[in-house]
Amino acid sequence: MAAFQGNVQPIRLKYSVQQALGKHLLSCYPQEACGVLLGAAAAGGMLIDTYVPMRNVAPDPLHTFTPHPEEWINVLYNEPTLIGLFHSHPHSEPIPSVADYKGLTALGPEFMIYLIGAPRTEDGHSPLLNGFYIERLPNEQGTLSLGLSQAPLHVLLK
Ligand SMILES: [Zn+2]
Repeated sequence: MAAFQGNVQPIRLKYSVQQALGKHLLSCYPQEACGVLLGAAAAGGMLIDTYVPMRNVAPDPLHTFTPHPEEWINVLYNEPTLIGLFHSHPHSEPIPSVADYKGLTALGPEFMIYLIGAPRTEDGHSPLLNGFYIERLPNEQGTLSLGLSQAPLHVLLK
């Protein structure tokens, strides 16, 4: 994982996206929720403006996620503003797992942002969220090393 750098641009998300992530995360509980993020690069950092929830078809959805293949393909081919991936950790902190790092290799370069959510029990509706940029750095083997670099997450007011 790349070192956190002081001047990392924030990842911004619309309030409606934060609410949609929280709702989906809770509706899937105790299973992991997953979906993709749409948006654009904007002045001041990436802006996520839409969340597209997907069915989790993993054999063990309590601990892993696999987006439904048809929903996944549909978005990959039809959503030019695809910028990121979301999933939830219903039973642990929203920090990347070993499996999450391994899964980065399956993501094309259009995926620039990686969000992980966890239920926040105190108020029940706004989730704990961590945001990361997906880093792709050439390594000595001539392939890409994939990493996640945490970024400040800003929720825009209504
Ligand atoms: Zn995970």
